[in-house]
Amino acid sequence: MIRVSARVEEIEPYTAGEQADGFIKLNTNENPYPPSPQVEAVFKSFVSERLRLYPSVTAAAAVKAIAAYEGVREDCVFVGNGSDEVLAFAFAALYDKEPVQFPEITYSFYPVYCKLFGVPFRTVALRDDFSVDFSAFSDEGGAVIANPNAPTALASSLDDIAALCERSKRIVLVDEAYIDFADVPSAVRLLDRYDNIAVVKTLSKSYSLAGVRCGYMVARPEVIRAMTAIKDSFNSYPVDRVCEAVCAAAVGDASYRDMTVRLVKSTRERIEKALDARGVFHTRSQTNFIFMEGSRELYLAFKDAGILVRHFDKPKLKNFLRVTVGTDADMDEFLKVYDRLTLRAE
Ligand code: PMP
Repeated sequence: MIRVSARVEEIEPYTAGEQADGFIKLNTNENPYPPSPQVEAVFKSFVSERLRLYPSVTAAAAVKAIAAYEGVREDCVFVGNGSDEVLAFAFAALYDKEPVQFPEITYSFYPVYCKLFGVPFRTVALRDDFSVDFSAFSDEGGAVIANPNAPTALASSLDDIAALCERSKRIVLVDEAYIDFADVPSAVRLLDRYDNIAVVKTLSKSYSLAGVRCGYMVARPEVIRAMTAIKDSFNSYPVDRVCEAVCAAAVGDASYRDMTVRLVKSTRERIEKALDARGVFHTRSQTNFIFMEGSRELYLAFKDAGILVRHFDKPKLKNFLRVTVGTDADMDEFLKVYDRLTLRAE
């Protein structure tokens, strides 16, 4: 038998949602609309000769566009290969001895990173209505808050996040993958008040760019330097030249992003009303997905009917489905199949 690292035995890798063709894909929270025409223009004008050279070590063009968009200095921005990578670097760069805390139900990659980097962690139970219970977080160790949270689709208030930063002795990492779909503002504005906040965003959802893998952090320069030290101990160039250019173009066209976000939100409201009319429990979504009641059997039946949704095999989540908001046509089909499947089950 070939011997590999014992570490491999110990880790529990995260399982991403299936990437399969031929389905209505409502399982990985992708945006159903194409990216900005500015992105298309980058692809058309990209000179492949440039690929001969390594990219910028900081993804400079992307950093410049993000700093302008967020209204922060360029040394407050770190860009990585998807926010998953930015989050991974953050767990390695920001936490060590005292257990970092996050909700018991949240993005399930967080404990994976902790185990990979040997960072101790403590999970905090959600309230019965699935909201984050900030009073249960201690001041030690720091915290990771997905805002809005996944898969519950609920947002916490900026006041709660600010109060946690105020008392926390370590960094509060706010994962804002879905913030553009929420009614609460981004925590980036707290950066003027607190030096212990780091905000992570992605271009995968609201910017329709899951395929290029681009995410970023906004934080104080000391934090960005810590992130860079980890990155430079792993891969000098995680953001390739195409990604750098595409990211700069997309962030520079936030009004296009706002347009697709509006479309997704209006479809979301329509589907929530349709679920209400059927008496189906769901949380009031602040994201581009709906967290609704539904069993593993229903997930499998949807799959047989050509629709991929997400089911998590965890005790507290086993009676729920996470359904990405697709186009109006996708969601009409979703409802039609839902009605057919649930009638059959009764
Ligand atoms: N954070 C949360 C809460 C997510 O749901 C996701 C998407 N799976 C990510 C981060 C990672 O997104 P990406 O790596 O595509 O930027």
